[in-house]
Amino acid sequence: MNRYARTALVTLAAIVAANTTLPAQRPVGAEDNVILITLDGARVQEMFGGLDLEILRSTLKKGQTAEDQPVYRRFWAETAAARREKLMPFFWKTLMSEHGSIAGNGMLGSAVRLTNRHRFSYPGYSEMLVGEAHDDVIKSNDPIRNPNRTVLETVRERLALPAARVATVASWAHFNAIAEHTEGATFVNAGQETLAGRADLDRLNAWQVEAAPPWDHVRFDAFTFEVAMAHLAAARPRLLYLSLDETDDWAHDGRYERLLDAYARTDRYLKRLWTWLESQPDYRGRTHLLVTTDHGRGRTPADWRDHGAKIAGAEEVWMAFMSPSMSWRGEWKNHPPLFTNQIAATMAGWLGVDWNEMRPNAGKPIQ
Ligand SMILES: [Zn+2]
Repeated sequence: MNRYARTALVTLAAIVAANTTLPAQRPVGAEDNVILITLDGARVQEMFGGLDLEILRSTLKKGQTAEDQPVYRRFWAETAAARREKLMPFFWKTLMSEHGSIAGNGMLGSAVRLTNRHRFSYPGYSEMLVGEAHDDVIKSNDPIRNPNRTVLETVRERLALPAARVATVASWAHFNAIAEHTEGATFVNAGQETLAGRADLDRLNAWQVEAAPPWDHVRFDAFTFEVAMAHLAAARPRLLYLSLDETDDWAHDGRYERLLDAYARTDRYLKRLWTWLESQPDYRGRTHLLVTTDHGRGRTPADWRDHGAKIAGAEEVWMAFMSPSMSWRGEWKNHPPLFTNQIAATMAGWLGVDWNEMRPNAGKPIQ
């Protein structure tokens, strides 16, 4: 090798080294933001495979065919990849192919599991926000105040933020009890709750109560999303938790066509949120998003509506990441399982807070 070739190689190596080490040198914590989004009871079957024809057929009346249904024309395709892109086009074609990754597709040797044995909402959400399952204490969906301090409360305290800058906006009213051990430690807007002190939101505040959904203690996700966007723009939270519910409600009701529509609407919310984040200098390129669910549901036409300790498949969940400190794109393959109890430490770590120092038994941050 002559001198010039060696110089060129050394230069090239330096460039490669500089480029590959750049992301690692990016300091995590000081100015980063985190957004957690949950889709209640969203099955792995729809997330990775879109419309489930067997389920759709099981919901039809005598004489109806799947092919004649509007939902079939809208969401059916031959392959799982094509179907899920029809259901959630922004999530798959933009977020997953350009910015992030998703774990939980069993067909690829990827698994995400709950550690709580109950497999319903409060235990699932508490596991996420505390990093531990407490099956003996959190054993119903009753709105008892969370007996454990959540990662939301600790992040607010450690970063010395005003309460408004660690925010939970939820469709389900019970998040007033789930999200914090000390009432008022953070900002929580849950159920049919107006956004106080916002004269500009008069109509949103009125409509979310007047357009009452058929379910108790819940508001429609459309309103939850609007409240979250309004709070995000005004208060600039460093940690926002957006909790959506309709992927569970319509499934319990057995309304498969409305359930699929809820996924499609959620995809549009993700698009609006992402587009807004990209337009804001204090959020663009420094916001970590984690999207997941609190439990799965049954796998078959006999039990897809349900979940709980006795329903096979309700422990199978999924988790998606769009993070400036994670380089992985697309789908996770052949890895040791991830667990929902790792979410608290992962979110805290993105903000420079060591959750395991406080809770050594909590799941460890996902790398
Ligand atoms: Zn749930």
